[in-house]
Amino acid sequence: MSGHIGTPGGNFETFSGIAFGDETVCRKCMTHEETMTAIRGFTDKLSDDEVASKEYTCSRCNNQIVPFKG
Ligand SMILES: [Zn+2]
Repeated sequence: MSGHIGTPGGNFETFSGIAFGDETVCRKCMTHEETMTAIRGFTDKLSDDEVASKEYTCSRCNNQIVPFKG
């Protein structure tokens, strides 16, 4: 089921969005490519803990990013 991606320190279930520069993007607004890039560890991920402890607003839909529940 898993293992073919092999990301150190995270997988698809452990982040709620991504951050690059001043932008934060929720999972709903991430493109497939952005999702894959985040999973591979090339993009800063926002963990469930991070979005729970601090308010992040999605730069694309302007909704607050909430912890992702699979
Ligand atoms: Zn969004």
